[in-house]
Amino acid sequence: MLVDYHIHTKLCGHARGDMEEYVREAIRKGFDEIGFSDHLPLLNKVDPYLTMGWDQFPRYVEEVNRLAWKYSDTIRIRLGVEADYMPGLEDELGQMLERYDFDYVYGSVHNIGDWGFDDSREKDRWESCDVTKTYQEYFDLVKRAVRSGLFDILAHLDLVKKFGYRPEEDHSPLVDQTLDVIAETGTAVELNTSGLRKPVGEVYPDLKAVEGCIERGIPLTFGSDAHRPEEVGLHIPEYIEKLQTLGLKGIALFSKRGRRDAPLEELPRTCVTQGYNDRTVRLTLSERERIRKSAEFDRAFEEGKKIYGDNLGLVWRQNDLEVSRLGVVVTRNIRKATRRNRWKRLLREAFRQNKMRIKEGVDLVLIARSEAIPSFSEVEAEFLRLSQRAGILEGDGPVR
Ligand SMILES: [Zn+2]
Ligand SMILES: [Zn+2]
Repeated sequence: MLVDYHIHTKLCGHARGDMEEYVREAIRKGFDEIGFSDHLPLLNKVDPYLTMGWDQFPRYVEEVNRLAWKYSDTIRIRLGVEADYMPGLEDELGQMLERYDFDYVYGSVHNIGDWGFDDSREKDRWESCDVTKTYQEYFDLVKRAVRSGLFDILAHLDLVKKFGYRPEEDHSPLVDQTLDVIAETGTAVELNTSGLRKPVGEVYPDLKAVEGCIERGIPLTFGSDAHRPEEVGLHIPEYIEKLQTLGLKGIALFSKRGRRDAPLEELPRTCVTQGYNDRTVRLTLSERERIRKSAEFDRAFEEGKKIYGDNLGLVWRQNDLEVSRLGVVVTRNIRKATRRNRWKRLLREAFRQNKMRIKEGVDLVLIARSEAIPSFSEVEAEFLRLSQRAGILEGDGPVR
């Protein structure tokens, strides 16, 4: 079974396409259950670029119900909504949510104070803000949202990373504390694939946090955050598979704000690729899988072979270890520290997400060459192309 609970409509002012087109796209892609979850009108202001008006809301509900009825033989359609959490307005929001018979309510934090931090119109403020403080404030709000008890599912848990700004220091304790609160309250978390289409180039939340959810028994569900019909269900089948390798056992389904955890066995494997399914590899990068010492880099450059793509370079050599290791290098012409760090993260992530496909006992050095930073999927695709040419992918014969 394939599920996509996060679908918007053009009523919100920043999406396009008719609602029926979204449904047809979901059917075409083989989804069994979807839900519309358009933005609830804001309680503190009117912005036709962000949400529909209250006068339009009954029409939204009617149209979801009409489509659910019309397509009931083919696909299950749920009535959901995405509601902004705003501290101080909990009671008002609770009252609004009770007016309709929702199947589920997503809770989102899109604002820190008066700043719509994920709004492209307000992106400039990232350049002058204190990123560390912003992350703290964001996760504090997420915790308050979860504790409010107003929401069934927490949307895009680490949305604050959308434009790619990250604190210099490790912020995983913030995420861990947030996950503890989520686990206490029984709220579900969505794996939201829209981050792959954003500057950050990765899903919300990142797979490390997803592992944290699985460890804590937090129910998980899936959403594309589609704002146009062709985005429905995008990347969800492959991430269901990836999460299986991380230990995911079930998917949370919702009806009339009640949750049912469907076992994963109920899910037919619609896109079995690259043998992910029969492996139980944990997608983390441990210390022994990293090359850090300059002597090791030197050795790779002296003894290894090199090939270059448009954005990346790959150096590789056989090591005499049982693991393959990764070193990352950013060429000197890329000067800005934020750019260099972002590049390094992308390279490590491309390796991390595909390391089960790399042969054992290879030292790889990935080199970022281009000033412009590609999206994660571009980096990943180029990394795999180069690895294939180098003959270091599993099943490719000897390392060339
Ligand atoms: Zn939206
Ligand atoms: Zn959102």
